[in-house]
Amino acid sequence: MENIQNLGGGRGKKVVVIGGGVAGSLIAKSLQFHSDVTLIDPKEYFEIPWASLRGMVEPKFAERSVILHKDYFTNGRLVVSKVINITNSDVETADGQLVAYDYLVISTGHNYQVPKRRNDRLKAYQEEYEKIRAASSILIVGGGPTGVELAGEIAADFSDKKVTLVHQGSRLLEFIGPKASTKALDWLKSKRVDVKLEQSIDLNNIDEGSTTYVTSSRQTVIADCLFVCTGKPVASSWLKETVLGNNLDHKGRLKVDIHMRVKGNKNIFAIGDITDIKENKQGYVAQKHALVAAKNLRLLLNGGGDTKLATYEPQPIKVVVSLGRRDAVAQFTFTTTMGLLPGLIKSKDLFVGKTRKQLGLDPRNVHY
Ligand SMILES: Cc1cc2nc3c(=O)[nH]c(=O)nc-3n(C[C@H](O)[C@H](O)[C@H](O)COP(=O)(O)OP(=O)(O)OC[C@H]3O[C@@H](n4cnc5c(N)ncnc54)[C@H](O)[C@@H]3O)c2cc1C
Repeated sequence: MENIQNLGGGRGKKVVVIGGGVAGSLIAKSLQFHSDVTLIDPKEYFEIPWASLRGMVEPKFAERSVILHKDYFTNGRLVVSKVINITNSDVETADGQLVAYDYLVISTGHNYQVPKRRNDRLKAYQEEYEKIRAASSILIVGGGPTGVELAGEIAADFSDKKVTLVHQGSRLLEFIGPKASTKALDWLKSKRVDVKLEQSIDLNNIDEGSTTYVTSSRQTVIADCLFVCTGKPVASSWLKETVLGNNLDHKGRLKVDIHMRVKGNKNIFAIGDITDIKENKQGYVAQKHALVAAKNLRLLLNGGGDTKLATYEPQPIKVVVSLGRRDAVAQFTFTTTMGLLPGLIKSKDLFVGKTRKQLGLDPRNVHY
């Protein structure tokens, strides 16, 4: 079947990882020589999410950030399909496969609709770039990190475009402190981005092909192209009718214990954005979850007992929102900072080299 790839390995207890995003890719890589690992993901690649907005203004950048699973996961089984159900012993995929497990890791993060094939994903970046290049005016809806970073990328690379950012909240980047919001707003204004706060666009009422949008305050925005950057739901609706249905909280997140196991389950782990841990949902945090869960799984696979399991501590706030290629706004536990210094941390390479290195890949070059 073309959706299954045997990449070698396959000895010992069966570990199934559902979701090959930030957390799932790292745990699959970490466990591949310790057990019989199957990674299940609806696409044949892992994509570094924090690089995605640069890919829209520089499609070539995505060549390093869209990574075939088989490049870092070389010793196991890859199933390219969506998981639709789990029981106490098996995982069921949308294309009708049943995959048995001894240990299960759930890392389905947030819901994004992206192509199954890497080449199609790269083509989509090229198309988005062409759309931006051809437009003279651009409307971005949503002033969270995605909307702000996209506005920053476009404003920095295409200073001739009229960019409007509409956000229904009273400040940008509401997931971090007001100082960071003000700094981001000032930066965007300095690049002539028109930021409209406390306004929204009715996305259910948009005429195909229209370039005229009316905000909730009846202001008219003319835009040749529109990008919707509103938050995506947690990808857990498929769990509702399963054996873990009762382990979901009211936000659809899986309740986990201090060892990253789904509460009340000895052999099911959950990591990344899908967990109910009280901390900012971020990639570097998801990576920490993966490393703790990998450590615990290695212990259990080697016959270790519960008393030796590692525990996870929720992480303090550490957020860097890039603003184009040089600047950024950052919030750490005791300080908020803006400009070239935080820009040096993130904005040039967007942690792509670092993330590739973590997966055992060449940080700079792609060989296809
Ligand atoms: C634009 C953007 C910028 C960001 N910037 C930063 C940043 O600078 N720093 C930072 O730390 N974090 C950042 N984040 C947040 C970070 O990307 C997330 O916290 C992180 O991706 C969470 O990892 P995850 O593994 O839980 O989920 P994801 O990375 O979302 O991966 C989920 C995976 O599960 C798969 N999946 C979904 N449903 C199913 C199913 N039913 N069956 C099988 N597979 C399934 C998906 O295809 C995907 O591969 C950013 C996010 C975005 C979108």
